[in-house]
Amino acid sequence: MRAIQMVDLKTEYQRLKKEIDTAVIDVIESAAFINGKPVQDFSKALANYLDVKHVIPCANGTDALQIAMMALDLQPGDEVITPSFTYIATTEVVALLRLKPVFAEVDKQTFNIDVDSLRKAITPKTKAIVPVHLYGQSCDMEAIMQIANEHNIPVIEDNAQSIGGDYYFKDGTSKKAGTIGTMGTTSFYPAKNLGAYGDGGAMFTNDDALAQKLTMIANHGQSKRYYHDVVGCNSRLDTIQAAILNIRLQQLDKNIAARISVADYYDNAFKDHSIIQAPFRAKNNRHVFHQYTLILNSDKKDLRDDLSKYLSDKKVPNMIYYPVPGHRQKMFEAFDAIEYNLAVTDWLTERVISLPMHPELDEEQLQFITENVLAYFN
Ligand SMILES: *Cc1c(COP(=O)(O)O)cnc(C)c1O
Repeated sequence: MRAIQMVDLKTEYQRLKKEIDTAVIDVIESAAFINGKPVQDFSKALANYLDVKHVIPCANGTDALQIAMMALDLQPGDEVITPSFTYIATTEVVALLRLKPVFAEVDKQTFNIDVDSLRKAITPKTKAIVPVHLYGQSCDMEAIMQIANEHNIPVIEDNAQSIGGDYYFKDGTSKKAGTIGTMGTTSFYPAKNLGAYGDGGAMFTNDDALAQKLTMIANHGQSKRYYHDVVGCNSRLDTIQAAILNIRLQQLDKNIAARISVADYYDNAFKDHSIIQAPFRAKNNRHVFHQYTLILNSDKKDLRDDLSKYLSDKKVPNMIYYPVPGHRQKMFEAFDAIEYNLAVTDWLTERVISLPMHPELDEEQLQFITENVLAYFN
């Protein structure tokens, strides 16, 4: 059996080596390292894939969130609602911009922002809502947009983990995750579903004026060369990364299908288990399984950490995403963050464990993983 990896970034490269090597060498030979043609080509191809009017590339997913928030012209102290159960980047940029982090609760089944908690967290000072499509599953965007529209609050979808996911509206139409709110953001960090071979990120919007503003902010607030109208930053997608992403985008749907097959295998192995709870798949979206995250539905102390250690000893990689929720991070102590009841966030934090998830897992490996997980409980 091949050694099992949490994420496999090498096998696909071996398959695509010729194409990728040629694309990278072409960039080097052209010397168009910054804003070369592959950057525009990739932005267009991704806009086309997502069916969104504008894709604005940038340096990473954290920058994408920051630039999106900067485009809203918020004032220090304005409140931004995010889930606490997310990767730190989502909320870190809120604090970085001297805005007030407001931590909302998540749903116990989907891990995504809880709509009732979101509604309760809204005050007259709420100036943005940042739902995170965690692990590959879209938030309940129809409900979120209804609340946001009632209060006229912009929505930034953090789509770093769910690129390619579909959201199904009640009227039967569908949109790609990240293209439903005012803006969407994503990350091309190598381990993401659409990863580069280094850092990268992008913002999406259907709003022409916002697209222009995002482009400007990512480029030193520049309206024309050496004329800087607003304070911005320097956040660019590298041409070499764009050339690689152009090739990898063509693999995305195939890779998502392979991820879903892995999830189906896991689901089947864990079904009807008294403690292991497989990820819930809400009917309103297609889950693209950035992570396959189990809940250990037990109050036994240290059970999750003990299983984690057991699996590691058997050479079954596993990860805890994330061991400390936002509202318990030291970083925010100085920011006087607002918290609502986060009992579900705390409950999940102690019970989640993620198994290897990538398109290259074969049946022998999946059998080994699931047998070891089940053996722990026997
Ligand atoms: C990875 C990730 C980010 C940050 O992306 P980087 O490219 O690493 O800056 C932001 N939000 C979520 C939910 C992520 O998973």
